[in-house]
Amino acid sequence: MLICEQCIPTFDDTLNHHQIQLERQTIFTLQINVGKLCNQSCAHCHVDAGPWRDEMMTTTTFDRLIELLEQSPAVQTVDMTGGAPELNPNFRPFVKKVRALGKNLLLRCNLTVLFEPGQEDTAAFLAQQRVEVVASLPCYLEDNVNNQRGDGVFAKSIKALKQLNALGYGQPDAELQLNLVYNPVGAHLPPSQTALEQAYREQLMGRFGIVFNRLYTLSNIPVTRYAQHLHRNQQYDDYLNLLVENFNPVAARNLMCLQQVSVAWDGSLYDCDFNQMVNLPVGGEVCNIWDIERLEQVPRRIATAEHCFGCSAGAGSSCGGALL
Ligand code: SF4
Ligand code: SF4
Repeated sequence: MLICEQCIPTFDDTLNHHQIQLERQTIFTLQINVGKLCNQSCAHCHVDAGPWRDEMMTTTTFDRLIELLEQSPAVQTVDMTGGAPELNPNFRPFVKKVRALGKNLLLRCNLTVLFEPGQEDTAAFLAQQRVEVVASLPCYLEDNVNNQRGDGVFAKSIKALKQLNALGYGQPDAELQLNLVYNPVGAHLPPSQTALEQAYREQLMGRFGIVFNRLYTLSNIPVTRYAQHLHRNQQYDDYLNLLVENFNPVAARNLMCLQQVSVAWDGSLYDCDFNQMVNLPVGGEVCNIWDIERLEQVPRRIATAEHCFGCSAGAGSSCGGALL
C-alpha cells in the first residue's frame, strides 16, 4: 500500500497511536560530532562532510566536555564521530582524557583516514588507548563501496582493516573491538543483521583474511545529502513511504535517543546526530554545553521529525546497528 504524501502521519502521532512515550532516560552515551572536515565526501553522507569543510570543535569546547563528563558518572561511553574525528588537532589529547576518566571511547572511523598525511601512527594510538573502532564498510564488494564512498576507498579500507587486525583488533574475544557498519547502497531497508554479518565474515575472511567482531546494519536516514540524493532521483516519497509502512513499535520503544545526547562541533546539544544535521535542537529548545552543569540537566523531551521513521522501520536502526 502506498501512503499518499498528504496522508503521511507525523512521527509523534504514530508514537501516540501506539501509546509510546519518547522521553530521554538515563544518558549512557555522549555522542560528539567533532566537525565536518573529512578526507572523503560520500554520496550518502548525512553530515555533508568533506575536505572543503572547516567547521571543527575547538580546544575550549573539548575541555568543557571533559568537565561535563567528570560530573556525569552515568555516562559510560563517549561516541566520537564527524567528519573524520582523527583530523581534529584535539583528537588525541581528548581521547587520552576520556580514557583517563575510565569511560569507553568509541571512534567512528572511515578507515581511509589512517593513510592521510600525519596519520601514520593513528591505528597504533587507538590500540594503545583501547579505543573501540566502528568502521564504515557498506559492502564487501569493491564496486558498491567505491560508488558510494569514492574511487579507491575499498582497497584502502581493506588495507586499514588488515592493519587493525595486525594490532590485535577484531580477534574473537579480544579487548580491542572492531565493528563494521553496513548501510544500504540503494533506497531500501537493510537486510537481517545476523545473516549479513555471516556473509561479511565469510567474504572478508575468505578473500582477505580479515576478522571483525560485529556488523551493525544501519538504515539510511533521509536528511541532508542523502535526502537531496533521493529527491534528485525522485525516490524521496517512495523511500519515506517505505519507512512509514515498516514502522515497528518494538523498535520505537528502543530508540537510541532514549539513552544518549549528541553534541555538535560548536557545543550545541541535540537528541541525535541526525537532528543535529537538520538543526532540530534537543527537546526542541536551543541549548548548549555552557547552559548546563551536568548532562542530567539536558531536557528529557525528544524532538522528532519525519526522518525519525528511519530509526523505527523494520528491525530498527541506531548507531549501534539494528535495534531488535
Ligand atoms: S567518511 Fe563518513 S563523514 Fe566522511 S563523507 Fe563519508 S559518510 Fe561523511
Ligand atoms: S532520528 Fe534521532 S530523534 Fe529521531 S528517532 Fe532517530 S535517534 Fe531519535
